Amino acid sequence: MFLQRTLRRRVQVQGIGIHSGKPCRLDFVPAPPNTGVYFIRSDLPGKPHLQVSADNVKATGNATTLGGADFSVATVEHCLSALSALRIDNLFIELDGPEIPICDGSARDFLKALQSVGLVQQDQPRKYALIQEPIYYSEGDKQAYVVPYQGLRITCTIDFPHPVIGRQKLDVDINEVSFEREIATARTFGFLKDVVALQARGLALGGSLENAIGLDEKNVLNPEGLRFPDEFVRHKVLDALGDLVTLGKPLMGHLVLHKAGHDIMNKLVKKILEQPNIFKSVELGADLSSLPF
Ligand SMILES: [Zn+2]
Repeated sequence: MFLQRTLRRRVQVQGIGIHSGKPCRLDFVPAPPNTGVYFIRSDLPGKPHLQVSADNVKATGNATTLGGADFSVATVEHCLSALSALRIDNLFIELDGPEIPICDGSARDFLKALQSVGLVQQDQPRKYALIQEPIYYSEGDKQAYVVPYQGLRITCTIDFPHPVIGRQKLDVDINEVSFEREIATARTFGFLKDVVALQARGLALGGSLENAIGLDEKNVLNPEGLRFPDEFVRHKVLDALGDLVTLGKPLMGHLVLHKAGHDIMNKLVKKILEQPNIFKSVELGADLSSLPF
């Protein structure tokens, strides 16, 4: 039987906030069995906490923002994607402000921090969300499906009318090894004209070629170039994995995305949760042959 997991001990990641441009930090802190994943704003009176759940998603514009009654936590998806890939069930994520360090715009530093202290098994079985039948959500040409699958697999297609991006597709079984090799280092990306507009509104003040792939009308602006020719679609898989943590349980299924971003992911996750016959909450042994497909 697969048991729940948390971190062996506390570990910190430092950086700057993408919007404020100011230094910020987070601490990953071990949590007891059956806790789930919580953000804690340790800078605020009473240290309010917020569970990572689909209902607590408050904004899905350029990034996923979780919000409570009077506070929020922005750009959660990159650190959450590392949790998803490592199958961490229980964790507190303490923050000293409203933003998570953007680091290099990928999940690399979060993965490294988590791996540096290691994980421990806990004395409670993990409950998976085992997809029983296909489910579909779409808006215009943005589409998202989940179908039954023995594992966690993501197939993602993007299509941007830009000479460096164009149509890109990635199909990957997610585990710690594939995540580290194929996904974790893929950076977020932004178009120069959008960044200028955001900065005029006082946002993305920390955005630079240190923490994103920058694009003008035709080219990549980063002098070092791309980490993968299809780094863009890899980053979309990274984002989707992070958003999957809002499901509250590790997904056992095949997620298929076409031009789908944070908004579609949030609506898909909510749709899954609203239809109890779509998935079964199950404990799994190492032998998956008893699965109903
Ligand atoms: Zn992202």
